Amino acid sequence: MELSSHLEINLGKIEENAFRIVEKCAKQGIEVLGVTKGFSALPRIVRAMIRGGITKLADARLENIISLRKQHFTQSITLLRIPRLSTVEKVIAFTDCSINSEYEVIKALSEKAASKGIRHSIVLMIDVGDLREGVLPEDAAEAAEKIVRLPGVTLSGIGTNMGCYGGILPTAHNLNLLLEMKTDIERRVGAELEIISGGGTSSLKLVEDGSIPKGINQLRIGEGILLGTDTTHGYQVPWLHQDAFLLRTEIIEVKTKPSVPIGVTGHDSFGNRPVFVDRGLRKRAIVALGKQDVNIEGLIPVDKNIHILGGSSDHLIVDVTDAAGEISVGDLMTFKLNYQGLLTSCGSRYIKKFYIQ
Ligand SMILES: *Cc1c(COP(=O)(O)O)cnc(C)c1O
Repeated sequence: MELSSHLEINLGKIEENAFRIVEKCAKQGIEVLGVTKGFSALPRIVRAMIRGGITKLADARLENIISLRKQHFTQSITLLRIPRLSTVEKVIAFTDCSINSEYEVIKALSEKAASKGIRHSIVLMIDVGDLREGVLPEDAAEAAEKIVRLPGVTLSGIGTNMGCYGGILPTAHNLNLLLEMKTDIERRVGAELEIISGGGTSSLKLVEDGSIPKGINQLRIGEGILLGTDTTHGYQVPWLHQDAFLLRTEIIEVKTKPSVPIGVTGHDSFGNRPVFVDRGLRKRAIVALGKQDVNIEGLIPVDKNIHILGGSSDHLIVDVTDAAGEISVGDLMTFKLNYQGLLTSCGSRYIKKFYIQ
């Protein structure tokens, strides 16, 4: 079997990560939505999450959600990117719930749902500081009052997102702000909010150390289940697997060369002017993988003594002078992935997916 540049996906490790996260969160009254956008909602991975105890799914891409529905996933699915006005009909048809911040869109969702005789769930996003989606806290109660008057939607809860754009960390302080909004909104609209959604993987640390405010009852988790990491905190979660995804690719050249290119310098193939440090003669390998396959900043050599020097569209160049083992043409080199590496390798049509249990 030809297996150059394949992503080896360990379904058992994904299941275990999901199980451990679901269990830890359940002890604190928190339900976990399994977020599927990090791996293009590949169905075998979704099933591994479900085996681990995930009962509800979430994705930012309607295309992924539609594909899951076509494959008969009947779980509740939440749309995690605030809907486009142009897609409200599909949002109603394929999802159970969506996160929202624009009244105009919520009104359109309501009209479409009402015309079909159904109700769509809305989680109103409140921006507590990260400055991506959400209404500002001072506008939240008024927005909620308007939403509850609409016939085709139910205001199921409120949520917030952190650590994505502004790099703002979830803390007891900003999550308590969300809980204050809950009390305020419930008083104003005279109904209880079922869901208080306190973020993604970056909120897991608060669950781990027991400091997540009581009342937060949902987290939307992708990275933690898949990679066992928390990029926002720069944290490798010690009770999760970090190697459920391994990218293996074939070595196509091994040679000792100078560390500074020879000749007159122009730009590289991506228009950048490269800079080099002279480290003398180094043993280098080229592997059959490039920027066209994957975001190379998302690759982490499993052998810590191997260093990525750079790459072009189809070649990745690594320094293997200090490599632990023998490096030979025709062998496979293995990389772990960060979130960018995961996103791009799962979505890449050049990288074959190979599953192990
Ligand atoms: C992607 C996303 C998540 C999941 O984030 P992870 O860091 O992968 O856990 C949660 N909420 C929203 C709104 C998202 O877009």
